[in-house]
Amino acid sequence: CYQPTDKGEVLAGRKAHFGGNLSLTYTDPVMLVRGWKHHLFDEWGRPYLDAYNNVPHVGHAHPRIQAVAADQLKRMNSNTRYLHPAQTTFAEKVLSKLPEPFEVCFFVNSGTEANELALRLARAHTGAKGMVTPNHGYHGNTTGVIDISAYKFNAPGGIGQTDWVELVEVADDYRGSFKRDDPDRAQKFADLVDPAIKTLQDKGHGLAGFIAETFPSVGGQIIPAKGYLAAVYEKIRAAGGVCIADEVQTGLGRLGDYYFGFEHQGALPDIVVMGKPIGNGHPLGVLVTTKEIADSFAKGPEFFSTFGGSNLSCRIGKEVLDIVDDEGLQDNARVMGAKLIAGLKALEKKFGCVGDVRGMGLFLGLELINPDGSEGKEICSYVKNRMRDHRILIGSEGPKDNILKIRPPLSVDDEGVEMILGSLGQILAELD
Ligand code: PMP
Repeated sequence: CYQPTDKGEVLAGRKAHFGGNLSLTYTDPVMLVRGWKHHLFDEWGRPYLDAYNNVPHVGHAHPRIQAVAADQLKRMNSNTRYLHPAQTTFAEKVLSKLPEPFEVCFFVNSGTEANELALRLARAHTGAKGMVTPNHGYHGNTTGVIDISAYKFNAPGGIGQTDWVELVEVADDYRGSFKRDDPDRAQKFADLVDPAIKTLQDKGHGLAGFIAETFPSVGGQIIPAKGYLAAVYEKIRAAGGVCIADEVQTGLGRLGDYYFGFEHQGALPDIVVMGKPIGNGHPLGVLVTTKEIADSFAKGPEFFSTFGGSNLSCRIGKEVLDIVDDEGLQDNARVMGAKLIAGLKALEKKFGCVGDVRGMGLFLGLELINPDGSEGKEICSYVKNRMRDHRILIGSEGPKDNILKIRPPLSVDDEGVEMILGSLGQILAELD
């Protein structure tokens, strides 16, 4: 099935049979049929450097993932109503990466489902409905989590904000209300939570909790000032709410210095949500919480997911986490990330259209600006498409879509880093 196929035919078939709001990346879309580590290959075998995909966390087509998946499929695959050692082994591996209060794991099929479940847990535990969340965040595609995903409900044609959700400004200290030269910005951003809590209480919804990507990605690859989430969580807890850390983009070593983003913030959530990279391409979401919160939820009806926590999923998830450890991938993210940031900072000095370089490990953003300092959306689109011409896959992000998002698999090496920086330098020079 992987023979060269006319890309035009596939595109036409997609247009005929897929929904119109399923977007394609690039003006000239790519068709990818094979992968290896941080490389992808199109229908003609032409290589691309993958500097964008965070799902193949340990690299595309990792032989160890292939082996455990094949082995488990040969044996059997079934659900959590039967005992299987893979389930408890995976739970123990996940919990080994988290501090003590985390004791209970729930396995589902995606980040979306894990966030849905997080909402249910927060409500079961508090008996309240109201949620506070940043004003440009994403937590998934279902009816429940769209309501807490401002990026989608506030988009043109979106369903709008529900009564039980209050928004707070993303803690963006480059464009936001409090800038990087303000030493109190973490606290000032956190204080915005106070009126949001009060509004929910006044409306009679009460406070179920706060949910945020620990480092807002769709918000523009933002690294909040240290202590921001700790200060927010303190306020949420004082008002009786549950703190949910969406680590779908940031978790599992991508940040280099930290296994999870909340560690950087000196904050301890009540619920941690993991997705995308934990299955390395296999659909898998994990929610981890305390015994106390899990017990509140257990007072309700049985929770069951047919595929969540299947033997296959658990073996793949455990293998992903083992590979991160065995291949020193968190450390590689730190070293390669530092090289990338240094190179990007050099480009920032050289080219006026680079307004800001930010990130940590292999979670990076390059904010592109117009000569007047406004968001350079067209510049960003130009650079992203030209990078594709150079056969480097990269994304764009942010409320105005002007932030280049660099987020390769954790296997990326020196050559890959040099290729990204070299091409980026050439393309930015074209703009000059
Ligand atoms: N949370 C965050 C931060 C995400 O980036 C995403 C996916 N982009 C999700 C949740 C939803 O994950 P999924 O698409 O796997 O359901």
